[in-house]
Amino acid sequence: MREEIRTLLAIQDLDMGIRQLEDRSREINQGLEAIRGQIERDERIIREEKAKETSSKVRSKELELEVEDKKNRIDKYQSQLFKIKNNKEYTALLHEIEVMKSDIRVIEDGILELMEEGEGERDLMEEAEADLERARTRYREEEQKAGDELGRIESQIAEKQRERVVRAENIDPDLREGYEIIFVRKPDRAVAAVRNGVCTGCNMELTAQVQNDLAREEMVCQCENCGRFIFLPED
Ligand SMILES: [Zn+2]
Repeated sequence: MREEIRTLLAIQDLDMGIRQLEDRSREINQGLEAIRGQIERDERIIREEKAKETSSKVRSKELELEVEDKKNRIDKYQSQLFKIKNNKEYTALLHEIEVMKSDIRVIEDGILELMEEGEGERDLMEEAEADLERARTRYREEEQKAGDELGRIESQIAEKQRERVVRAENIDPDLREGYEIIFVRKPDRAVAAVRNGVCTGCNMELTAQVQNDLAREEMVCQCENCGRFIFLPED
């Protein structure tokens, strides 16, 4: 096997390792982000429910005052009833009292409804609070673990990159550039073995000419179909 191919294979090995480590690091960060998203959602629910609770309390208070006001007016009307001599006026005032009483019933139903809504909102809020607490605990644990693992990944990447620099110094810059372009285009691998005259990168059969060049090992060969650098494995 040509020395350049050996070097390219080593670089490819390092590049794949670096890519895997970077993928893992992305995955870890996405995991943390998902928990942060959960925390933000819970915090928003709690904020919204608190705001609803406050406005519903204000509204309840308003309605209670309205009821009180109407009750006071009923008392006043009732005391007026005794002083009225005119039958028509008496009936009118009685009717007024009935209307007022029915208004009170409607308002009291409204207050009850607000209370029931409030209970539902409180349940939702308690649920969100418990959920938030769990998410925060999980985040603290995961952040600690993630921090440790990310630190390890970072130093592993740095080590591979240092090794890559050394390897890359030993290879013709054009060849290295060619490899890098193919590695981006063919992310599975840029250097592929040839088995039974077939490029294992694209599974196409190589021409007799290329197979011949490959066997003679006088130059670095590339697959005519996929452009990958090719080699005959030694095993
Ligand atoms: Zn190929």
